[in-house]
Amino acid sequence: MNKDYAVIGLGRFGGSIVRELIELEMDVLAVDIDENRVNEYVDIATQAVIGDTTEETVLKDLGLGNFDNVIVAIGDNIQSSILTTLLLKDLGVKQVSVKAQNDYHARVLEKIGADYVIHPERDMGRRIAHKLASSSVLDYLELSDEHSIVEIMAQEKLADNSLLDLDIRAEYGVSVIAIKRGDDIIVSPDPTVNIKEDDILIVIGNDDDLTRFEKSLINN
Ligand code: ATP
Repeated sequence: MNKDYAVIGLGRFGGSIVRELIELEMDVLAVDIDENRVNEYVDIATQAVIGDTTEETVLKDLGLGNFDNVIVAIGDNIQSSILTTLLLKDLGVKQVSVKAQNDYHARVLEKIGADYVIHPERDMGRRIAHKLASSSVLDYLELSDEHSIVEIMAQEKLADNSLLDLDIRAEYGVSVIAIKRGDDIIVSPDPTVNIKEDDILIVIGNDDDLTRFEKSLINN
């Protein structure tokens, strides 16, 4: 069996990662300390096993050191999450992605070598807030602490202007990297071609600049 991914902690977050990876035809080893949780995933994951991942022997017995990708989705028990992450990095797992419960937890995880720290509630809150604040914003994806990508509906406000006319980069310091037009995606769009009302602009930039750009679309 080619176990591509291991997911530790089968709450709502870990569980949904297992389901999506399986949907994407990946092999997934699902691990939880709680037998009931494991039973829920016996028919879903490639393999589901009971185990306390704060014990090094358990990780070794499960062969977790051979995985390239392990997701630690233990949220509430911060101590277990940290210990598990530390042990996985010690065992040589290349990419350890960990769900953080709060900013302190995140900082510790980064210090001990977690490769990708996820803040599901915070990030989803941000995405939803941006969508709610402006009818033009379709999605908001954080790239780093300071940079994001926003999907913006052109609507009347931007339609019938070219990127050159709008001069978005000079005005707001953000760049339109692609335009979704129906089923097509126009990468690096020609700045002289007019934008259409139904176009979706994929805009990348610093968060402050993106916020200024979003605000300019709200009230006018
Ligand atoms: P979610 O917010 O994703 O729904 P949850 O609140 O249900 O999660 P958490 O406490 O965040 O639960 O933990 C997620 C899962 O991690 C639980 O199913 C729990 O049994 C499991 N878990 C906790 N500690 C360990 C451990 N040491 N080893 C393996 N699994 C663990």
